[in-house]
Amino acid sequence: MFNYLTEEQDNILKRASETWGTGFQKDMLQEECAELVTAVSHWKRDRVHISAIFEEVADVLIVCRQLMLDHANSGIEMYLHNMIESKMNRLEKRIILGDVNAPILLRDEE
Ligand SMILES: [Mg+2]
Repeated sequence: MFNYLTEEQDNILKRASETWGTGFQKDMLQEECAELVTAVSHWKRDRVHISAIFEEVADVLIVCRQLMLDHANSGIEMYLHNMIESKMNRLEKRIILGDVNAPILLRDEE
């Protein structure tokens, strides 16, 4: 459903989990998200090219895909599908209503 990698790349991620286990994923997710946050900080101060952002986005997407694959039997893809649909519907509603809080588009309803 939300597969932005090829089947072959998915298989590499599955082999990585089989080889090293899944216990390291929390650390990897945390580390890659932190690297993305750091890259954004540097980008905001014009210290890096936007390509540095997308390099870190690629890492985060890969780790997220591995997380999805390792939890494939728990219905996580349907949950993710529903979450994205809900958030996109809310975003569209805010656009239609001309929500003045547009810069915080994905923040939960208060
Ligand atoms: Mg990284």
